[in-house]
Amino acid sequence: MPKDKNEYTPMMQQYLKIKEDYADAIVFFRLGDFYEMFFDDALLASKTLEIVLTSRDAGQKVPMCGVPHHSSRIYIQKLVEKGLKVAIVEQVSEPGKGLVERKVVKLITPGMIIEDGMLNEKENNFIASLSLKEHGYILSYVDISTGESFLTDGLTKEQAFDLILSLKIKEIVLSKNYDKQIELFINNNNLSVTYYESGKDLFEHHLIKNLQTLDQKKAASELLQYLSQTQNQPLKHFMGFEIIRKNAHMHIDHKVQKHLEIIDSNTNNPKTTLLYWLDQTQTAMGSRKLKYWLNNPLIDKEILNQRYDYIDGFKQYGPRNELKEILRYIYDINRIVGRISFNNANAKDLYQLKQTLSLIPNLIEILKAYENDKVKELATDINPHTELFELLDKSIVDNPPLSIKEGGIIKDHFNPLLDELKEISENGTAWLEEFERNEREKTGIKNLKVGYNRVFGYFIEISRGNAELVDPSFGYERKQTLSNSERYVTPVLKEKEDLLLHAKEKSINLEYEIFSEIRLKVYEYIFSLQELATLIAHIDVYLTLAIVSDQYRYVRPELTDSKRVVVKNGRHPVVERYVDFISNDVYMEKEDIFLITGPNMSGKSTYMRMYALIVYMAQIGSFVPANRATLPIYDAIFTRIGSSDDIAGGKSTFMVEMVESNEALTKATENSLILFDEIGRGTATYDGMALAQGMIEYIHHKIKAQTFFSTHYHELTELDQTLSNLKNLHVTAKEENDKMLFLHQIKEGASDQSYGIQVAKLAHLPKALIKRSQEILVSLEKDKNKPKVDLFTYTEEKEPIIEHSFTKENEEILNELKNLDLNQMTPMDAFLQLKYLQEKSKK
Ligand code: ADP
Repeated sequence: MPKDKNEYTPMMQQYLKIKEDYADAIVFFRLGDFYEMFFDDALLASKTLEIVLTSRDAGQKVPMCGVPHHSSRIYIQKLVEKGLKVAIVEQVSEPGKGLVERKVVKLITPGMIIEDGMLNEKENNFIASLSLKEHGYILSYVDISTGESFLTDGLTKEQAFDLILSLKIKEIVLSKNYDKQIELFINNNNLSVTYYESGKDLFEHHLIKNLQTLDQKKAASELLQYLSQTQNQPLKHFMGFEIIRKNAHMHIDHKVQKHLEIIDSNTNNPKTTLLYWLDQTQTAMGSRKLKYWLNNPLIDKEILNQRYDYIDGFKQYGPRNELKEILRYIYDINRIVGRISFNNANAKDLYQLKQTLSLIPNLIEILKAYENDKVKELATDINPHTELFELLDKSIVDNPPLSIKEGGIIKDHFNPLLDELKEISENGTAWLEEFERNEREKTGIKNLKVGYNRVFGYFIEISRGNAELVDPSFGYERKQTLSNSERYVTPVLKEKEDLLLHAKEKSINLEYEIFSEIRLKVYEYIFSLQELATLIAHIDVYLTLAIVSDQYRYVRPELTDSKRVVVKNGRHPVVERYVDFISNDVYMEKEDIFLITGPNMSGKSTYMRMYALIVYMAQIGSFVPANRATLPIYDAIFTRIGSSDDIAGGKSTFMVEMVESNEALTKATENSLILFDEIGRGTATYDGMALAQGMIEYIHHKIKAQTFFSTHYHELTELDQTLSNLKNLHVTAKEENDKMLFLHQIKEGASDQSYGIQVAKLAHLPKALIKRSQEILVSLEKDKNKPKVDLFTYTEEKEPIIEHSFTKENEEILNELKNLDLNQMTPMDAFLQLKYLQEKSKK
């Protein structure tokens, strides 16, 4: 790190001064055609960007690395994706004598990207502030690229963390009152953070005015203060903060969303997510809206029915393909507006906006052509922005270049001066020839010539002999007398001279000025353009949901105020895309607990997920995969599914299982839906079984939530004798021709056996072992009160159960088998292990 500043060259001192204010950012320091980084920034950046680390003699030798200015974007993107901040320092004075002045012109952080190409168009990119107020935490978050602003209050710390993860928030602004736990959360999740000292409240800001409580205003104001300071922009395109009320939504925490694979896959395969199979949106705006809906399932019956109505409307007769086609060509209005508002839009943005607006009249006609009245009505809400379209159509060329400072962006005939300049610069000589011809005609002097020299510029030259023909009415002013001729200038020629000499440069500058004026004009439309974007996003999502429901045979759910569930022929929306899905019904009464038994891999988990996904889809306003669905509105879904270890958080599988169960047991209400998949697997059999039973009883007596509970503890099926709302279900399977057939059908009643040994037999475990296991099973079943049987103890003298003698290999196999901790293994692990043992036994 730098020593005494005075030891450095003035330029390095300038750098260090800037760096002082941007200590937590990588400073990109403009030097000629490069952005250079120094000291620790250079060490970090060279490693992250895989570029060469050199050094520079700046009074002292300092580490340095650099990237070319013209290809800097990709490097900046890489750093920002890693959660780093980048401060761009440009030269702001003309190079000349002395040190060029330099300033930070932009701070790019993970939450503050507006550049096209650096953002995922299908995702919002939020920056948030988290603040603790009287009634809990408040999370305010905005997407500066689209101008959307939201606020949720009354959160516990855990809920706030959860929301941050669900929304994939990348950057957090924290006032000084953060604590260790928050710090740990931020570090664990690799979030970019800025600690911020709050200043003057911005209560009068147009975004804040509609917030209700003082705390909400304060929290939002903190975020805005930070943004307006760092962006040096008025944030004009921001839409007022929308309050996302926790209790207006179904409660879904991030883990539940993951378990159900709503947006993110558990295996990093996006094709296993609900989002993947629903998202046929044509526009980026629609795609983000669908994600927003998936992140915010609702509990308001009226709004949900409205959404169903629209889907119904778009399912009805209408020019669907034409509508799809139009949407396909619509650009991302929100982000174009964002860039306009940040004065960052280029001609390409305005051209894309024009292209988009050119489609709107057609969009309106197409919506009107639909049979359904609600869809027709949408057309009347659309503002076609005719004037704006005409302005852009007249002014911006087709397919303009990216740069707005090199000309070639404004159409001919938009501005007479520009036309002239362009013509002059392009046809300078032609103009002079024309001028010469005109002057000859006007004066009648045949040998009149237009010439040029460095001292006088352009002039009219007339031979001495003809000089007397020059009449004062010509307006010629004598400039120079030569031996054989006289040279004159005219006001027109002088005026043109300036143009001629600088036409190119001037036309480029004028194009930029005109462009800036147009951009300023478009700025006046940003709110109505945002409204248009929202409408298009909705149309896109409704249309998509209509298309998928036709394609995949979804039905409109009927929402009921009673708790009676009727799902006829329900299907799992993702699994059915991969296998011939056996549909299943769900009939549930208030407070029902379904205890589901059946062999491994028979479909227990799929059944309960199927129901949860049907519920989830219904509560985002989508149709559902079933022949019929009558559903209550749940206030929350809780899941304990699969084995996800939270090693980073220091929890073992079993601990995670218990923490997640506890989440449900403490927070669920009688209006929630609970899914518990194989509780108690991670501990000893009786321990696990006891816990499972305890939980079932607790839910039955205390919570009374509708619950799906799958288990391999057969013993629990007897609970239906004592718990009136517990119903046994089982998944059918049968053994046929030495094969286990999973029928995937859910039937009432408990399964009659647990099939484990059959599965082992089908996997060709050694016959001796199978036989022995069957004997143990019989003895266990006979004597359930003696649990402490060591299942895998085998003693030669006990009984000669084998026909052939044990080899050393066989013993090894048995030993390995003995040492398996089945409670810690997934079915797949167990299968692989079996396969391996089988292979070994064949050797
Ligand atoms: P379990 O929870 O009983 O161990 P899963 O629910 O994980 O079993 O199901 C295992 C596999 O069986 C699934 O991945 C799926 O391929 C298949 N399956 C489950 N249910 C059905 C069904 N209803 N129709 C067709 N295949 C199914």
